[in-house]
Amino acid sequence: MIRRRQTRSFLLCASLLPLLLSSSAARADETAPARDPKQAVNEAYTAKIQKYTTAPVFTSPLVDYLPASKNVPTPEIVLGDVSGAPGILPYAEDVYKYMRLLAKATPRVRVFSIGTTEEGREMIAVAVSSEENLKHLDENRARLAKLPDPRTIKLDDAEADRIVAQSTPIYYITGTIHSPETGAPTALMELAYRLAVDESPYIREIRDGVITLITPVVEVDGRDRMVDLYRWHLAHPKDFYPPLIYWGKYVAHDNNRDAMGVTLKLTENVLNTYVGWKAQVLHDLHESVPYLYDNTAGDGPFNAWVDPILTDEWEMIGWRNVADMTKFGMPGVFTHGVFDTWSPGYLMFIAAMHNGISRLYETFGNGGADTEERTLDPQDYSRTWWRQNPPFPKTLWSQRDNNNYEETGLLTSLHYFNENKRLFLKNFYLKSKRSITKPTEEGPAAYVLPADDPRLELQTELLQVLQKQKVEISRATASFTVAVPAKKRKKSRKKEDAKDTNEKEKEAEPTSREFPAGSIVIRMDQPYSRIADALLDHQYWSPDDPQKTPYDDTGWTFGELFNVKVFRITDPKALDAAMERISEVKPTGGVQGDGTIFAINNSAEPALATLRYKLRDADMQAAEEPFEAGGKKFNRGSLIIRGVARSDFDRAANETGLHAAALSAAPSVKTHPVRAARVAFVHTWLSTQTEGWWRLALDNLKIPYDYISTQVVAKTDDLNAKYDVILFPPVGYNTSTTAIINGMPRDWGNPLPWKNTPETPNLVGKNDSTDDMRPGLGWDGVAHLQSFVGKGGVLLTATDTSRFALSIGLADSVSLGTSQKMNIVGSVLGTRLVDAASPIAYGYDEKFSAYCDNGPIFTLSSIAGGRGSRRLGGHSSSRPTGRGTADDPDFTVGRPGIEVPEEPTAELWEYPQVSDEQRRNGLRVIPAAGRARVILRYADNKDLLVSGLLEGGDEIAQHPAVLDVPAGQGHVILFSINPVYRGETRGTYSLVLNTILNFDNLNAGRTILEK
Ligand SMILES: [Zn+2]
Repeated sequence: MIRRRQTRSFLLCASLLPLLLSSSAARADETAPARDPKQAVNEAYTAKIQKYTTAPVFTSPLVDYLPASKNVPTPEIVLGDVSGAPGILPYAEDVYKYMRLLAKATPRVRVFSIGTTEEGREMIAVAVSSEENLKHLDENRARLAKLPDPRTIKLDDAEADRIVAQSTPIYYITGTIHSPETGAPTALMELAYRLAVDESPYIREIRDGVITLITPVVEVDGRDRMVDLYRWHLAHPKDFYPPLIYWGKYVAHDNNRDAMGVTLKLTENVLNTYVGWKAQVLHDLHESVPYLYDNTAGDGPFNAWVDPILTDEWEMIGWRNVADMTKFGMPGVFTHGVFDTWSPGYLMFIAAMHNGISRLYETFGNGGADTEERTLDPQDYSRTWWRQNPPFPKTLWSQRDNNNYEETGLLTSLHYFNENKRLFLKNFYLKSKRSITKPTEEGPAAYVLPADDPRLELQTELLQVLQKQKVEISRATASFTVAVPAKKRKKSRKKEDAKDTNEKEKEAEPTSREFPAGSIVIRMDQPYSRIADALLDHQYWSPDDPQKTPYDDTGWTFGELFNVKVFRITDPKALDAAMERISEVKPTGGVQGDGTIFAINNSAEPALATLRYKLRDADMQAAEEPFEAGGKKFNRGSLIIRGVARSDFDRAANETGLHAAALSAAPSVKTHPVRAARVAFVHTWLSTQTEGWWRLALDNLKIPYDYISTQVVAKTDDLNAKYDVILFPPVGYNTSTTAIINGMPRDWGNPLPWKNTPETPNLVGKNDSTDDMRPGLGWDGVAHLQSFVGKGGVLLTATDTSRFALSIGLADSVSLGTSQKMNIVGSVLGTRLVDAASPIAYGYDEKFSAYCDNGPIFTLSSIAGGRGSRRLGGHSSSRPTGRGTADDPDFTVGRPGIEVPEEPTAELWEYPQVSDEQRRNGLRVIPAAGRARVILRYADNKDLLVSGLLEGGDEIAQHPAVLDVPAGQGHVILFSINPVYRGETRGTYSLVLNTILNFDNLNAGRTILEK
């Protein structure tokens, strides 16, 4: 109450300020945050704001009233109540309806369509500014466009100053990307009204000085599902309501981790809007932490590719925001906090990577519009140096409170931004200029993707990602040579050894490199060099970093994860090479030669699988050995295709980007058929997020599958009758076997339907449905999977579902190792092929990289039920104390010396040899043919880390990464890596696709050594 009084008196004083200051040369930043006493207040609306605000301190002089307007409708017109009213969550359509009513009622608002979602729903951006500003939008944009591309003004700072002085900046706000975080749309409706209607000097300055751009709903598909669920909850107030298992068509929370791969429509639409409008700020609204965590100035480590000018801006804006709201007496407003700013995958980071300012709020939401008593964890209400006025341990909290915080934070931000817009516009220019001068400042000069990369289709996919990121791409029109700096090596402690190896390596290392004509050059003297640099470079997160809990992935190097060659070039001569800009990256596939038989070299490119399903009637064979034909060399696994008309094949090759050779005669090489497997794709009702990335990949590749839940597996007696391959991708969040089998608790509570009803018309969309989400796979489902594999089916699992497969006994010869100190947080790791003859490995080189997030440690055992942890020969490596030197054999007085038999050793990716003792009545000894075939292993510890954080790597180094386990007549394929992830790991997709294409010939090339 005391605080409230302070606020009131502040408000009172403030209302006089404009009058007092107008006569003097007052600075604009002294404008009081207060309403215009001359403008009428909408009394009814204002009364409801006060009614729904649960404590006087949870509001501010900026939002504790609503100015009246005769012609402009308030949000009440579509909500039936005020913004943030209990029980009211509008669908996206209603939010749009209101924004369009606003646009109709006032020339200060305009609505733009910015694209559609995967399910076809519209996304919009609402521009709010003065009539004058909106009238001259296009002129302003043309002017602004010169700042992010200073080449247009020849990097002339004086010209930039003139443009800065004339331009109106754009501040872009995005709401509710995370669907259970429900408050932003109503806050943004009311914010748009205030910005358009309020005549107080504080708001007028924002309106006249800034163009506020608003996308009120980013995840539109998820918003509509969430509103459905909330309506269901209101209709069944005493029941539990289903968790929001699907947000968008593919992923849930990870929709805010797509700003690197740009695989989701929402990312692409926001990116295009941000860059297209030449905006300076992207401010994304979230809800989780009480009451407003401005993570703009997050914790370290900061992303290593952003300009320090930006990190300074984060601090300025973040702390000023806290200061302003603290002065209003609003508790629980802070910056700093737990969020690190390393990964560029967040939506708001689009701005950070495109020379703007990224911002993010976490406000406090109830996941719906109920007013509820909330109790906080001590860590959330503790007072710290960065949170001097913490939230209350316990409080009644409403959606209106949340809206008050969101709007107050945004209005103070907009006002501060406007006051300092010359600074921020100039910084926008400077950051862009420094992006262009990168080659001569910090480097590198360029990245080069060579024309002779065997994976041109994957190279095209990588370039298409860069193109979506607005990166300029060039192609060399002639070959060129650049200098390669000598690698600096750490000095070895043994000086003489170091001398030896250094000299040898120096001799072997080239000092220059030639790239053929047609090679791709990503120049670093371009406005968006930073995003290209961040994606293509390597990452290193020190195990000694004070930040012990990385917020997200620590590594992502795109060249490594796409299995595409990328060279970081520091020699500025690379920029002088003859080259031309590529306006649009297109697949470069085609057919060379004449003949009716086609051969495609297998380089582990995902499009091979697309081709198989595209040409359903064609006869396709996989070569089991490398061969030569038509003067070309073909890898093991290359496709030999018959029975397709040339014109059809030409088109298919062009569309898929694959390079084929037409042959007059088939090569003489052992082959097996490559058939279009019938694929089931299994999901749980616990989480669909991690598997969603797999669905997205398969859909993009046009590989058909039946999308079924574990409940369907439980009800299907004969899975083999319908499917050849069952994919059971990761459930995510390290889901336990128990949870997969049991599902959610059913001994209490009510059924949780996920289906369309009159109350929930949007729930299902294009995904799956059930009468009750609670039942899991059950023991019937376990039996059905066991029987499917036993009768010849192929079951493919990864990470947590691999753990599940092991725990239901599908792989006797593999067990799970435990880790003591291993810490791999979304890192890129080195792997090595172990069995190149396996069809799963077709097209891969001996070394490549894979994504791992504390993957399971597979340990091999030749003994059924063995834990695989005891290794022969490992227990004693030195001789006992006795006579002689350390190298002498042990010696016993009074008897002749006995030669100790040499104990067999095995590598971690090999099965330990079975001892004679184990063979005595060895009923548990697994015959060699029954043991897993190791396809891929993790690299040795010294070569394991490619990008990101690796701690305790010795615990997983050399262990199998992909295993083909024979089980009955079928196979279980176990992945420790996650081969399909966030559209970033396209280089490892083919490990999955090869399994699908060769499902009935997985034993091809297998050699079985009984030992
Ligand atoms: Zn969120």
